[in-house]
Amino acid sequence: MLVVQKYGGSSVATLERIRHCAARCLATAAQGHRLVVVVSAMAGETNRLIALANALVQPGDAPQASRGPYVAPAKRTPEHERELDQLVATGEGQSAALLAMAIQDAGGRALSLVGAQLGLLTDRSHGRARILGIDAARMQRELDDGAIVVCAGFQGTDDRGDVTTLGRGGSDTSAVALAAALRADVCEILTDVDGVYTTDPRVVPTARKIDRLSFEEMLELAGQGAKVLQIRSVELAMRHGVCLHVRTSFDDRPGTMIVPEEPQMESVQVSGVALERNEGKITLTGVPDVPGVVATIFRIMAELGIVVDMIIQNTGAGGRTDVTFTVPEAELDRAAAALAGQTMGGEVPSLSTDREICKISIVGLGMRTHAGVAAKAFALLAAESINVQMVSTSEIKISVVVHERYGELALRVLHDGFGLGVAP
Ligand code: ASP
Ligand code: MG
Repeated sequence: MLVVQKYGGSSVATLERIRHCAARCLATAAQGHRLVVVVSAMAGETNRLIALANALVQPGDAPQASRGPYVAPAKRTPEHERELDQLVATGEGQSAALLAMAIQDAGGRALSLVGAQLGLLTDRSHGRARILGIDAARMQRELDDGAIVVCAGFQGTDDRGDVTTLGRGGSDTSAVALAAALRADVCEILTDVDGVYTTDPRVVPTARKIDRLSFEEMLELAGQGAKVLQIRSVELAMRHGVCLHVRTSFDDRPGTMIVPEEPQMESVQVSGVALERNEGKITLTGVPDVPGVVATIFRIMAELGIVVDMIIQNTGAGGRTDVTFTVPEAELDRAAAALAGQTMGGEVPSLSTDREICKISIVGLGMRTHAGVAAKAFALLAAESINVQMVSTSEIKISVVVHERYGELALRVLHDGFGLGVAP
């Protein structure tokens, strides 16, 4: 078999952990598998590097939020973005070289590849580059030579040969892209949790590890605040049919397989429940009920690059209607400021914002074929007197917005109410 193993930051956080990963790599190779390893930077290193750059150009600025996107400093320029990628990519370079040394030290053959050596070609969008193609010739040669190839994750190079990075959490995407290019049999994502859970076990103690999950369900859960995998990596895996195995690097227990949909998966109504706390709500009241008004609102959001999540427009009454939508909480003020005072349909509607909301989503392939999932969800919430402010659905997902205060309660009630808290 050809195996791709990706080790996350906590799995390579110390030299002791790196030695442990080396032993695991050698054990995999000893089973007769060809092995490509993708590593993240040592835990905290990417944040440290970003904070250094920010402190340099903007002294006194608060350090980065741990998983957030880069906060653009006021002095950000294309030149700065180029150097920032050059800088942060070194984090993965360090762990790749250290892991290769550790494998060598334990008696194995390994070499590390970084930047242009990887053959991973991207566009020029620094900090959020898209992969355009992979030239795996070098990697193949080293594998044929019997080496374990240790790749620096999170990075590629553009057509000028400049280093680019794939966005926070991008090593997952590197691993899947390499697995697809090399036609690997499996892509193992080794991390500090033992798989994908039915919900966040820190909030709901009865949460269970899921054994098998479809790509579609994982996409919905990842997009709803389950932070196990970078969402792009799941999209890529689905497109190329790369089976993912999310498991802990701390022991040998199997984790969660994320695979193409299987017939028996539809027998489960709900496979997971997720809580997203970082949303904010904007309501425009008394909007004239004429064509073009919502188009104006969402054009303004699009121009600001703000991703709108849920949208509700009510049936008009007396020539007027209300529009409510949600955006990432960090963008709420910017969104509201851009809409305030704008003329829509000849008038300026009144605007209100609410950041004390959160979104709960229940996800399951079985919703396609089971009636009454929504009815049951609303009944469970009503029994706890939780008011539902907004609802949206897809074929395999129901999302509700509730007051922030009730988020964790709602999560627990839905999780346990759909029987996820007990062994199947
Ligand atoms: N080190 C990078 C980050 O923290 C990429 C990764 O770990 O996947 O976002
Ligand atoms: Mg990660």
